[in-house]
Amino acid sequence: MKSTELIYLENFRQTEAEATVVDIVEEDDKTIVYLDGTIFYPQGGGQPYDKGTIESTNGKFIVDEVRYLEGLVKHIGSFEKGQFAKGEKVKCLVDVERRELHSRLHSAGHLVDMAVEESGLEWIPGKGFHFPDGPYVEYEGNADDVQRNELPAKLEEICNKHIAESIEVEVKFVAKDKLKEICKNVPTNIPEGKPTRVVMFGTFGVPCGGTHVENLKDLKHEIIRKIKNDGTSVRVAYDVDR
Ligand SMILES: [Zn+2]
Repeated sequence: MKSTELIYLENFRQTEAEATVVDIVEEDDKTIVYLDGTIFYPQGGGQPYDKGTIESTNGKFIVDEVRYLEGLVKHIGSFEKGQFAKGEKVKCLVDVERRELHSRLHSAGHLVDMAVEESGLEWIPGKGFHFPDGPYVEYEGNADDVQRNELPAKLEEICNKHIAESIEVEVKFVAKDKLKEICKNVPTNIPEGKPTRVVMFGTFGVPCGGTHVENLKDLKHEIIRKIKNDGTSVRVAYDVDR
């Protein structure tokens, strides 16, 4: 099967699209629909998957889960009505409310990265957990007692300053050897061979494949909940106004 076109990488605000059914497969009591291209975000990069519906004149499929495996996006769920045929044109609708929260939490996570960088901290970004249930970002590094007490308010102030500046969010596709020019921290696991997608908050760039807000003002207000050390990492727990 040909790789699924990942429409959400370029058009990360799109929540409605037409697509063509490539295949319908039964797997472990679940139905999987494969499309030629998708706006549905599969779980990854610390962001949960989208939900939604895929509809044609003949059927309606409820998307419960979306996963990416070896170039293919699996829309996992069940038919509420009818069935699709291979080659059929369908309409995809992403659950906007769920997507919106995930996009806000993901952008807010990288806004913490931006505040950390601007604070002159030499912490190296690690994993992000941008889930609604206790979001946090982790760094290689350590916070001393004073930092644990004082940094939350300082980082929060920087984040909310940028939210008030209404910074536009843009994406760029950049060759791996050029990443260093716009991203201070380039992860070592960037795949070879194809341009890397970089999310830009003004001049701050972070390699990322997730979905984001259109403008940082959409975050409304960010809170830094807690900073704590966890082994060789430091974890910054954050949240946005819900
Ligand atoms: Zn990201």
